[in-house]
Amino acid sequence: RGANAGTVRLLTFLPNGALDRTMKKMTKLDVVQKAVRNWRSKPAKQEVVYNDEAVLKKTVTKLNTLPPLVTSYEIQKLKNELRECALGNAFLLQGGDCAELFDYCNQNMIEAKIKLLLQMSLVLIYGARKKVVRVARMAGQYAKPRSSPMETVDGVEMPSFRGDILNSYEPDVKARTPDPARLLDAYYHSASTLNYLRGALSSGLADMHAPLDWSLGHVVDSSIRNKYQQIVSRIIDTLEMMRTIGLDTGSGLETVDLFTSHEGLLLEYEQALTRRLRQPQNTPALSQPQPQVSTTQKASRSSSKTNGTSHPSTYVRKSSVSASNPMMSHYNTSAHFIWIGDRTRQLTHAHVEYFRGIANPIGVKVGPSMPPSDIVPLLDILNPNHEVGKIVLITRYGHDKIKDHLPAHIQAVQNSAHNGTVVWQCDPMHGNGRNATVTVPGTEGKTTIKTRRFTDILSELQQALLIHQEHDSYLGGMHLELTGEAVTECVGGAEGLTEEDLSLNYTTFCDPRLNEKQALELAFLVAGFYRE
Ligand code: PEP
Ligand code: MN
Repeated sequence: RGANAGTVRLLTFLPNGALDRTMKKMTKLDVVQKAVRNWRSKPAKQEVVYNDEAVLKKTVTKLNTLPPLVTSYEIQKLKNELRECALGNAFLLQGGDCAELFDYCNQNMIEAKIKLLLQMSLVLIYGARKKVVRVARMAGQYAKPRSSPMETVDGVEMPSFRGDILNSYEPDVKARTPDPARLLDAYYHSASTLNYLRGALSSGLADMHAPLDWSLGHVVDSSIRNKYQQIVSRIIDTLEMMRTIGLDTGSGLETVDLFTSHEGLLLEYEQALTRRLRQPQNTPALSQPQPQVSTTQKASRSSSKTNGTSHPSTYVRKSSVSASNPMMSHYNTSAHFIWIGDRTRQLTHAHVEYFRGIANPIGVKVGPSMPPSDIVPLLDILNPNHEVGKIVLITRYGHDKIKDHLPAHIQAVQNSAHNGTVVWQCDPMHGNGRNATVTVPGTEGKTTIKTRRFTDILSELQQALLIHQEHDSYLGGMHLELTGEAVTECVGGAEGLTEEDLSLNYTTFCDPRLNEKQALELAFLVAGFYRE
């Protein structure tokens, strides 16, 4: 009552017309703030039905009291860096497992993934001559959307494995039943992973002076091997020269930023870790006010170019934060960045509703089923203030479909007030799945497993680079499923893995991932695109 009275008193001092506008603004803000809870009133795809409401309630109550996994300061820092990706000045490298298992929470696997992402980023920096923003699909990538809720294993029908946060991959009806206590397990495994990640980074795991394993012995083709060797030699030389002339001291080469991300699928969990916090001030690069694009501006008609990138030439400043009146926002503190999957991005459904309420930078997967006419309405809901770098559009069409869809999607954004505000990121994995029939080791039997061809992945990535270039747009990042282990899940690459090799070390519980050699090779090839 007190607050309302205060509001009314304040409004009576406003000039004619301003009252209406203020009321509208407040209502709009209110609605956005409530969206993080209001998603429950909307239909949801990939819904989970728990049969133990009491345990669910207890778990969510506990999650509500646990500390945030990441801070709003870090989230804001990532947002600032993604802004640079949208503007064409930086490149977003995002990668990790398809389905992260609780078992992956161990020193070796965490280190292997950090080192791989670091190594790939060095290659990309060399190639693109741009800052690379590193985001791991890690410390929370535990929930999986599935095309079918049920599957048959050895003649028994059971719920599909939907990620460790929900059920177990063990092929047993009981183990596959959603268990709400797993939400808490997910939090603790995220916390442990993140704890080691932070410790390892601050203790020099990412020290650029430490020797990295660049061995290229697996590259069968000698001309390709020589090409990669040249890139590696240049990187090593540069680092050595910086050390020789003392340019590296205190320059931050000892550690790097590595942000975390996952698909925001399980809204119970995401909401439980959503906190209303002050918008941090003075985060790096925020010393300049966040420019925002005017809603009336049709940037396609007034764009200027920097680094071959179109972006709005004029900005309208909307200074929303002041020292005496800090802006409060909802932050999802389960990760720095979360994304909406291709199966859950319906405009009127629960996921879009929840996501529009949070201040984090967010991603949306965009596949062939997205009509170009849906893109702008979706951006209007998720980013009504046209914040630059707030939204990452993660495109995943397939190497044979990208040319039929990406141009129209780029044009839809360019012809709207969102021109120049999004980060375009290519996910060359999810449209390129295929089946392979392989022999079960030690038996005569055959089985069908999921794989992807390295050539298809590379082809989609190369087409994305070219299509963006042709449309005066900028491919600001790539999104990969990869692992630091020597798995054999995707065929091809410089090592020449064949379908018959797949059963050697096929360990994924969801989609096939690039192994460390294939992932690094992809970075070499993208670097080559920029350097040639
Ligand atoms: C994923 O990234 O693992 C995934 C399921 O992607 P998509 O939503 O694009 O199918
Ligand atoms: Mn996947």
